[in-house]
Amino acid sequence: MVRLYYGGDYNPEQWPESVWAEDVALMREANVNLVSVGVFAWARLEPAEGRFDFDWLDRVLDLLHAGGIRVALGTPTASPPPWLGKAYPDTLTVNSEGVRLSYGSRDTYCMSAPAYRAAARRIAGALADRYAGHPALAMWHVHNEYGTPCHCDHAAAAFRRWLRHRYGGLDALGEAWTGAFWSQLYGDWDEILPPRATQYRPNPTQVLDYKRFVSDELLGCFREQRDILRAAAPGVPATTNFALARWVPVDTWSWAREVDLVAIDCYPPEGGVAGYEQAAFAADLARSWAGGKPWLLMEQSPGRLPGEITRLSLSHLARGSTGAMFFQWRASRGGAEQYHPGMVPHAGPDSRVFREVVELGGLLTRLPLAGSEPVEVALLWDPECWWAMPDGVDYQEMVAAAHRALLRAGISADLAHPEAPLAGYRLVLAIGTYLVSDAAVASIHEYVAGGGTLVVGPLSGIVDSELRVRLGGYPGAFRELLGIRFAELGESTEDTVKHEYGRGVAYYLPSGREDQLPAIASRAGVPPVPAKRGLDVRRRRTGATSWLFVVNHAAEPAELPARGTDLVTGRGIDGTLRLEPGRYAIIEELV
Ligand SMILES: [Zn+2]
Repeated sequence: MVRLYYGGDYNPEQWPESVWAEDVALMREANVNLVSVGVFAWARLEPAEGRFDFDWLDRVLDLLHAGGIRVALGTPTASPPPWLGKAYPDTLTVNSEGVRLSYGSRDTYCMSAPAYRAAARRIAGALADRYAGHPALAMWHVHNEYGTPCHCDHAAAAFRRWLRHRYGGLDALGEAWTGAFWSQLYGDWDEILPPRATQYRPNPTQVLDYKRFVSDELLGCFREQRDILRAAAPGVPATTNFALARWVPVDTWSWAREVDLVAIDCYPPEGGVAGYEQAAFAADLARSWAGGKPWLLMEQSPGRLPGEITRLSLSHLARGSTGAMFFQWRASRGGAEQYHPGMVPHAGPDSRVFREVVELGGLLTRLPLAGSEPVEVALLWDPECWWAMPDGVDYQEMVAAAHRALLRAGISADLAHPEAPLAGYRLVLAIGTYLVSDAAVASIHEYVAGGGTLVVGPLSGIVDSELRVRLGGYPGAFRELLGIRFAELGESTEDTVKHEYGRGVAYYLPSGREDQLPAIASRAGVPPVPAKRGLDVRRRRTGATSWLFVVNHAAEPAELPARGTDLVTGRGIDGTLRLEPGRYAIIEELV
């Protein structure tokens, strides 16, 4: 059986070499089989410009290999060393206030500075040359959580190039940006700047285009390194970890097409049942970005509540993750994240957290890797809606609320780009789909006309790709589908409005009425499976085998029908599975 990945970020450069042997021994005790190495080690790998020190990393990789542990080898470009900023100040980030930031933290780089790009290619190339053939190498972990925008003159020049490519000419740009409003028509490309601190509200389409540009510019940084690594080691997957936090401004749909393996970092803001629901949303996003291919939970936090290490990991595995990874292996003694939990906490291996780490590692050696579950519901999700939404409206929370309502009804959902093919779904939800392109409007109409069921929430269909209002009454793009017309933006209906269109049907779902979703799903042919809140039930199947993942995140015991062998306890289950609070089962089912 192919093993699931298990491990975390390993930062031996923070520790004396005498600790490394203990690390590997503890990893073996915990059945760790993959660690991310070198992610923040630039200052140790290249202590001065062009002078490399790989001896220590050679020893680390050899030691891990001897212990049977594989490596996701990082390129350290998210945290440039002080010498780079000192020698090339233009590699340091300029924020929207025009302040050039200093080194002294992390992620202080300029995505568009030629000197930064060159230094990043050089360190990635040196790592590729040295380690492409190392037997411990399992994958390349490029950078970390790409997401730093820059507003400097390099970024301005790159932004202008991006805009020329998008619009061709200044007249088209002026039209798209509604430049006639507040005298923002540009007569020369050199007049155009990234959005910088200004007197009053900035031009919203300029801000949106800048966010699109930042995503593409950072993606260019990723591609440069990926291509160097691929050339040196064909067949070794290259990935980067997507951060799900709100501050990360990249279009994950386009990025997902460029990585060999979708990898995410998932840090739910809350614990317990709420944290599970947040993690399930993240896992469904990752699964959807991967589009049926494998994906990996690259980072999560170990040890918020007793047992949560295993429960949250299983809820990710149930949604297709090929492993469970953490940040980080050994909790740092000092530094900016010294109290961030580690798999080996400050107290050492004689601790609750490490005992749970060992327990989960043992369990993962017995779990299947394969299988997926057919999903019949799609929630539209688009970072451009997130970037475009008026101030004060929380797009992520609007979509997450609908996802939670489905989750609590036992209904699995994909997240889908608004322009994605929808014909395979029985039910599609456009919640907060504020910005919608003409192509998406056509595709969604075609889906409903062909017999699909669509649910449209408030603030959907309001503007086009350039943030121009779709005129004639709200919700502009979906008026005809819904058979409704609002003259005021805040206007709504009391209850769900149903409207037949072609062979399908569209519903308008007023704000806060997610409780209607199970009944609508049922009418669309996706019956809800009533379950207690916090009880995660998912099935993965392949061929004639299926596994039922059941995780009780709730504080009360749970019961449900099941038949087969529980891979957690090894016991047979003949009819009824009973789970105490916080416990879990993976049933290999009899088919
Ligand atoms: Zn810059």
